Amino acid sequence: MERIPVLFSLAKRGISVPSVVCPICEEEHLMISCDFAQMVWSVITSWCKVPSIYAFSVKDLLELHKYTFFPKRKAKAFYVVCLTTIWCIWRARNVLVFEGKSVSLNNVMGEIKTLSFLWVKNRGKHLDLTWDNGSEFKFTL
Ligand SMILES: [Zn+2]
Repeated sequence: MERIPVLFSLAKRGISVPSVVCPICEEEHLMISCDFAQMVWSVITSWCKVPSIYAFSVKDLLELHKYTFFPKRKAKAFYVVCLTTIWCIWRARNVLVFEGKSVSLNNVMGEIKTLSFLWVKNRGKHLDLTWDNGSEFKFTL
């Protein structure tokens, strides 16, 4: 949304940056069009049982919950999942760049499910959400 000075934004402003190539898939693009991010969103849509996502901006991702047919509480929980997904993809890229740790779809999905469960469970009122089989929570509210 051009509010955070990411590498692309800095380069557009004429600031010298080492590279604007995506550290995960090694192509020149913004986070929204990253192949890895699109794989994550594909798993998210399957998990949450929503149609495939065709987002052209971060704003599109932030408004996805408005276009589901979920009841209000579940739409809010899905919004949390979307926020968590953006956060976890961003964090995985930073961990790769700054700590040299590789990015794994399974690890990112595990983090998204764990964090979104904790955030929905602890911030949501009157939600009866449980961790299923010790492995993940089911996205049914
Ligand atoms: Zn990429």
